[in-house]
Amino acid sequence: MSDRITQLRTDFDRELPAVTTDADATALRDRWVGRKSGLLTAEMKTLGKLSPEERKTAGAQLNELKGYVESAIESLQAGFAAKREAEQLVSERIDVTLPGRRLSGGHLHPITLLRQKIEDIFVSMGYEIEDGPEIETHFYNFDALNIPENHPARSPQDTFYITDQLALRSQTSTMQIHAMQKRRPPLRVAAPGRVFRRDTPDATHNPMFYQVEGLLVDRGITLGDLKGTVEEFVRRLFGPETRTRFRPSYFPFVEPGAEIDYTCFKCNGAGCRVCKGSGWIEMGGSGMVHPNVLRGVGIDPEEFTGFAFGLGLDRLCALMYGLDDIRLLYENDVRFLEQFR
Ligand SMILES: [Zn+2]
Repeated sequence: MSDRITQLRTDFDRELPAVTTDADATALRDRWVGRKSGLLTAEMKTLGKLSPEERKTAGAQLNELKGYVESAIESLQAGFAAKREAEQLVSERIDVTLPGRRLSGGHLHPITLLRQKIEDIFVSMGYEIEDGPEIETHFYNFDALNIPENHPARSPQDTFYITDQLALRSQTSTMQIHAMQKRRPPLRVAAPGRVFRRDTPDATHNPMFYQVEGLLVDRGITLGDLKGTVEEFVRRLFGPETRTRFRPSYFPFVEPGAEIDYTCFKCNGAGCRVCKGSGWIEMGGSGMVHPNVLRGVGIDPEEFTGFAFGLGLDRLCALMYGLDDIRLLYENDVRFLEQFR
């Protein structure tokens, strides 16, 4: 029996190095000391056949071998567990000195930035900001703005008609009418928004673009108030040295009407590429609100007068950022827009 036990130990020692995984270790344990069919369990059962003397010696030797087997397997398993833990620590290691990943958050569109700047100037001058419909009836688009029946602005070649009676607004001047219907003078309103014209898109035209309209109606308002307001407006927008000039012009809803130019923000009037050498940049139309327009919304032109002026945001934005094509502003190409972050 003693030889047999020595042989069993040799066998076990030979099997042990082949164990490389937890599963192998479990299988080895079942094979040797498993409760039902373990080799040593079976040997224990044969002890009963031995003489009491032999049983005592063999029993002790078998127990010793069983303890040896169990502790060998346990230490193997402990080794596996330690290795697993070490590997996990390496794989989950965090290097706190690595630079963080930048989150790519959104930001405002250049037109929006410019619009907000202009709105801030209007608000600081006591104007309220108004928003209004982009689809209008003939009344707001034309009739109330004193635009005659035969005026080209009414033509389907210039304006996007939706039905006979509805069209996309072609200018933010429609907001003058809404503002004057909603409240009585004195009133100061600025209305930024999109407008639509049937222009063929090119570097300086787009069928949709942005305007801002300013309107003031009160007692005793004169052309001098318009000039003073516009001068202050451009100084706040482009800097204190900016000058303005008015050129007589015609718009049906004002009398008299004028085009406004301001001295180039790049060269301050000396002449450069931005202003095409003239030193001046066109800002937009302006004028004293036509008596017919006031009458149309129930305001007595003998008692109240007012002025309005507007400017386009898109060309201004293109000039300020040196864009040679305004369509860049509407194409939503992220590579372009990211520059304004
Ligand atoms: Zn210039």
